[in-house]
Amino acid sequence: MPRTRQHNVTAAQWSANGAALGASDLTLPDNQVFGANVFSPAVQRHRLPKHVYKALHRTLARGEALDPSLADAVAQAMKEWAMERGATHYTHWFQPLTGSTAEKHDSFYAPAGDGTALAEFSGKELIQGEPDASSFPTGGIRATFEARGYTAWDPTSPAFILENPNGALLCIPTAFTSWTGEALDNKIPLLRSMDALSGAAIRALDLLGVDDAARVFTTIGCEQEYFLIDEQYYFERPDLLTTGRTLFGAKPPKGHELDDHYFGSIPERVLAYMLEVELELAKLGVPIKTRHNEVAPNQYEVAPIFENSNVGADHQMITMQIMQNTARRYGLVCLLHEKPFAGVNGSGKHNNWSMGTDTGLNLLDPGDTPQENLQFLFFCAAVIQAVNKHQQLLRASIASAGQDHRLGANEAPPAIISIFLGAELEKVFTAIEAGKVQPSKPGSFLGLGTPVLPSLPLHGGDRNRTSPFAFTGNKFEFRALGSSSSPALPNTVLNTLKGSGATLEKAVTSVVKQVWAANKQIVFDGDGYSDAWHKEAEKRGLANLRTTPEALPWLTEKSTVAAFKKYKVLSKRELESRLEVFTEQYVIKINIEAETAASIARTMLLPAAVRHLSELRVGGLEELVQEVEPVVKELHFALVKLEDANLDENHPDSSPQKEAVYMRDTVIPAMEDMREVADRLERIVADDLWPLPKYSEMLFIK
Ligand code: ADP
Ligand code: MG
Repeated sequence: MPRTRQHNVTAAQWSANGAALGASDLTLPDNQVFGANVFSPAVQRHRLPKHVYKALHRTLARGEALDPSLADAVAQAMKEWAMERGATHYTHWFQPLTGSTAEKHDSFYAPAGDGTALAEFSGKELIQGEPDASSFPTGGIRATFEARGYTAWDPTSPAFILENPNGALLCIPTAFTSWTGEALDNKIPLLRSMDALSGAAIRALDLLGVDDAARVFTTIGCEQEYFLIDEQYYFERPDLLTTGRTLFGAKPPKGHELDDHYFGSIPERVLAYMLEVELELAKLGVPIKTRHNEVAPNQYEVAPIFENSNVGADHQMITMQIMQNTARRYGLVCLLHEKPFAGVNGSGKHNNWSMGTDTGLNLLDPGDTPQENLQFLFFCAAVIQAVNKHQQLLRASIASAGQDHRLGANEAPPAIISIFLGAELEKVFTAIEAGKVQPSKPGSFLGLGTPVLPSLPLHGGDRNRTSPFAFTGNKFEFRALGSSSSPALPNTVLNTLKGSGATLEKAVTSVVKQVWAANKQIVFDGDGYSDAWHKEAEKRGLANLRTTPEALPWLTEKSTVAAFKKYKVLSKRELESRLEVFTEQYVIKINIEAETAASIARTMLLPAAVRHLSELRVGGLEELVQEVEPVVKELHFALVKLEDANLDENHPDSSPQKEAVYMRDTVIPAMEDMREVADRLERIVADDLWPLPKYSEMLFIK
C-alpha cells in the first residue's frame, strides 16, 4: 500500500478523550460549571467584606478610578479563592501589540526565612506589575534602555483561573503601558474608546429625551471561524507548523462545490472537541452559544452571546487559546489562520457590534415606538456617517498579511468597505431625505399611513453575506475581521468614530436627513463580490485598499489623528507606533513564509521530483522523462528566483513602508510562481514519494 493510505487510516483513528467527562445531570446545582473559574461579582459578594464589595462595585459602575485602599482586601480574597482551586501562581495577563496575549507567572509563595514558604499576594501586586517589557513591540515608543513597562489591573474584566493537568494559574486581566503612560497594548485604547463613545452617546440621548441612562456600553459578539485538521498532517507540514498556512498544495478534486458541509452534521470527533471547548470556556465564564460547520470542508464556527466590548474582547482571546489547546487532546490542530488552504474558503471573525445603555436599551434596536424609532435612526445615521468618513481607517484596522488572501480576492468580504442596510431601512432613509416623513414628530412613523416604518421587521430573510458591514436587525456585523486577529483594534476604531459621528446641534430630523444625503454612497445592498460592484464603488469614490501596505498608512492620516485626539483614544505617537509595529509584522510574516517555502522546495519537493525522474530514467521511459524533466527544471528556476528575491542585499533597506511594498510586489509573487510549479509537480510525482500531506487528506479525513 502507498504510504499515504496507511497514514490516513492512522489519522482517522481517535478515541474519546477522558471518558470521565461523560454527561452529568445538569439539573443538579453542583454540575453547573458556568463561571466556576471566574472571580465573578457573585464570588466577590460572597468573599469580600461588605463595604469593600460595595465600594468596588460603585467605582466600577461609575467607571471611576479605584481606591487603592480596597486593593489589599480584594487581593487577599482573590488569592484564597484561587488557591482553593489549585492555583500556585498568578499572572498579569495582557495584550501586547503582537496581537496575542502575554503572561509572566509569579508564585504566590515566598520563603518565610525559616525554611518554609508563605503564600503572599498584596494589593500592590494585584494593582500593578512591572514586566520586563523590552521584548514587546512598541513601535519606537520605548527604547530598550528605558525598558520599563507597567501592567495595571483592569477590575472591569474579571480574573480567572486557567487549569493545567499539573496545576492552575490565576490570570488577572491588565492593561500594559510604558512608564511615560503610552498605551503599549490593545486594551487601553479599547477602554478609552468605550469611554469616549459613552460620553457622546449619553449627551445624544439627553437631547433625545432619554435621561435615565448613566452609561452607554458598546457590545460585541464574535463569530469565530476555524479549521480542524489531524495533527499528524500538521506535523508533517513545515509550512503549517511555522506559518499557520499551507504554502503548497494542489486543489483537491472535491472542494466545497457540493455545498455539503455548511450546517452539515458534525463528525463525532469534532463534536467531542467542541463540547470540551465549550465546557472549558463555560468554566471561564465565556458564554458560548452556537456552533456549526462552515462552508469549507473541515471548517467550523463558534459564537458567544454578546458582552461589553472589553470583556468580550478578553473572552475572544481566551476562546482562541482554549480552542487551540483543546484540539491537541483530540489529536487535532485548530488552525486560526485567515487562509490556511489556497482555493478553499478562508476564515474570518464576524464582529457583531452594538451600543446599549446601563438601563438595558439597545441603541441599534429599531424598537416598537416612534420615539425608539427616532433614536434608532439617529444612531444608525451616525454609524453610516462614521463608516463612510473613515472607511480607509476601518480597513486598516483589520489589515494583516493573512487577511490579504481574503479581502480583495474573490472572497468574503471585499476590501471595499460598504454598508448593507436592507431594503426596508434604506427605504426609510430615502423617504426622510425626500421629506416624505418627519421622524421627529411623535406618531409620524406609524400614524401617517406611509408605508415607511412598518414596525421595522428588519430581521429574517434579508441577508447579504457579501457585505463587509451589515445591519442585522439590532446590531451591525463587521464581517471583515481576520480569524486570528484580536477584535480590540477594530472595535476601538468603531467606538471612536461613532463618538465623532453626527452632532446634535440641529434638530435630530435634519441631522438624519443631512447625514444620509451626505453619506449614502457607502450603502450597498448588492453582490459585493461582483466586478460590477468594484466599478460602481470606484465611481462612488469608495476606497478599495486591496493590500496591507496600502491600508496601514491610514492609521496615521490627518483625519485619523484628529478623531483619535479629540476623543483622547490614541495620541499621534501611539498611532505611529502601531503603524510601525503592524508594518513590521507584515514584513516579518512574509519573510518567514518565503524562507519556509524556499526550504520546503529545496529540501523536500525538489528531491522528491528528482527521485521520481530517476525512476522514470531507470525504467527507460524516455517519453515520461521528457514530460517531467522540464517541470523539475522550472521548479528549480522559480526556487532560485525566490531565494534571490529574499536575499538581504536585494531588499530595500529604507523605510518599513518600502520594505512592505517590496514584499508585496516582489517576494509574494516569487513565492506564488514557485508554488504554481510545485502544485503541478504534486499531480505528477509518485504519491508515495510526495513528502507533503495533500489537501484531499488534510481536508477530508475527520
Ligand atoms: P445572526 O444570525 O444575524 O448572525 P445571531 O443571533 O446568530 O445573529 O448572533 C450572532 C452574534 O451576534 C452572536 O455572537 C450574538 O451574541 C451577537 N449579538 C447579538 N446581539 C448583539 C448586540 N446587541 N451587540 C453585539 N453583538 C450582538
Ligand atoms: Mg452572523
